[in-house]
Amino acid sequence: MNIKEKDSAFIAHTYGRFPLVIKEGKGSVAYDENGKKYIDMATGIAVNAFGYCDDEWAEAVTKQLSTLQHTSNLYYTEPCVNLAETLCNRTGMSKVFFSNSGAEANECAIKAARKYAKDKKGEDFFNILTLKNSFHGRTITTLAATGQDTFHKDFLPLTPGFVYTEANNIADLEDKVRNNKIAGIMFELVQGEGGVMPLKKDFVNKIFELSSELDIVTIVDEVQTGNGRTGDLYAFMKYGIKPDVVTTAKGLGGGLPLGATMLCEKLADIFTPGDHGSTFGGNPVCCAGALSILNRIDDELLKEVTAKSEYIVGELSSSSGVLSVDGLGLMLGVTTKRPVDEVVKECMEEGVLPIKAKQKLRLLPALNIPWDELKQAVKIIKTVCER
Ligand SMILES: *Cc1c(COP(=O)(O)O)cnc(C)c1O
Repeated sequence: MNIKEKDSAFIAHTYGRFPLVIKEGKGSVAYDENGKKYIDMATGIAVNAFGYCDDEWAEAVTKQLSTLQHTSNLYYTEPCVNLAETLCNRTGMSKVFFSNSGAEANECAIKAARKYAKDKKGEDFFNILTLKNSFHGRTITTLAATGQDTFHKDFLPLTPGFVYTEANNIADLEDKVRNNKIAGIMFELVQGEGGVMPLKKDFVNKIFELSSELDIVTIVDEVQTGNGRTGDLYAFMKYGIKPDVVTTAKGLGGGLPLGATMLCEKLADIFTPGDHGSTFGGNPVCCAGALSILNRIDDELLKEVTAKSEYIVGELSSSSGVLSVDGLGLMLGVTTKRPVDEVVKECMEEGVLPIKAKQKLRLLPALNIPWDELKQAVKIIKTVCER
């Protein structure tokens, strides 16, 4: 059996995979099993922040790997405390809980909001308000948080206590907030899986206004937008807001599984021993890699991210094959004139790997993609869109 046949025989059919086996990669270039070269414009869904097998990240990881790979959270280890210190210093948040994925980071945030609301306002203030068209993960609770019925239908009943409001609809937001007992409001600043849709600033400001009035915990899901992706270290910085909880994962580990739930001062001591935990959370190897990633996301790199974003938006929005380009930084969704599946397929044939978000072409290149590779990829995407 070849790899595709074995996958089909032995792996649960949860993924609609592209017909491509990626064998190896370096930086923004991937190679398939026949040695064909591709420019990667998706980075494993915004995970490989500095591309494939980046030297500096790989060195940090392998050094830690041959020093101490895991203990348990019953002991102290250095990489995770250093990473937590760096995250707090660079975000203004006060404490961090580490897990292994975006869904787990969000689960922790939901637990924090519920405990805070129960202590402050009473047991019936357990509802979490999320947005329609959002995506927060695949566990039964984060599926409940995900405001898309198509993900829910076969898995009911989901965790109760979730209320949904329409993104960018201030009247609906105010109605849902005032007519439900809300513990927290959780949202993505750019809805990633929902089609790369940034939230409007006045809507976000209204969330914070209502939350401050009613002591509601604000949770920004930066699983995809975080770690330099939007041109700021975290997208909440671009919006000039101060969330109570920020969750992140994807790009943080640079390719290894790592989730983080960052808590503001008022929630810093919400958890006490026994409230929450994770066997692998804060794994020293993942944290050592993440620390090397974060240390390189500086002002200079973020300026490059913004410049590359402007280049892509400029090139594609002036193309006759493109209807619109949405998103922030290097998290872009392109509405193409041609069916997006055909565009992705032909881009792959031409040696470029984009992905989709709903019916848009989604581009999530490495934060440090070299200019020549970026220009080559954009040229190919443009050509395919204009066919
Ligand atoms: C990917 C994603 C998640 C889920 O992350 P996993 O690591 O797959 O659990 C949650 N929220 C957002 C915004 C995401 O993009």
